Amino acid sequence: MSVLDSITKKVTDTAKAAAKISGSVVEITKLNMSINAEEEKVRKLYMEIGKQVYEDYIDGKPLDEELMRKCIKIDEIFDNINEMKEKILELKNVKACPNCGTILAIDMEYCHKCGRKQDDDTVDAEGEKDE
Ligand SMILES: [Zn+2]
Repeated sequence: MSVLDSITKKVTDTAKAAAKISGSVVEITKLNMSINAEEEKVRKLYMEIGKQVYEDYIDGKPLDEELMRKCIKIDEIFDNINEMKEKILELKNVKACPNCGTILAIDMEYCHKCGRKQDDDTVDAEGEKDE
C-alpha cells in the first residue's frame, strides 16, 4: 500500500466513522422525537382519564375521596377563571350573552345572535320578556 493509498484509506475511514456518528445522532434524534410523541399520547390519555373522572363527579357518581378533592379544586379553578373572564369583559366594556355567550357591547339590549334580551343588571320597568 503506497503512502497515498494509506492516507486515502485513513480519510475514507474517518469520513465513514463521522458518517456513522452523524447517522446515530440522527437516529437518536428520531428516537427521542418518537419518545416525545409517545409521551404526548400518554399525557393526552391521562388528561382524558382525568376529564372522565371530573365528568363522573359532575354527574354525581361516587368517587374516591382524593379524586373528589381534586374535582372540587377544579371547580374552584373554573370559578376563578370565570371571574377573571368577567373582569376582562368589564375592562373591554363588553358583556357575554347569558344564553349563548356571544360577546356584546355593554349597552346592547338584545343579543344579535340568539335574540335574548340582556336584562341582567338593569331590570326592565315594563317587565317585558319575549322568550
Ligand atoms: Zn345570545
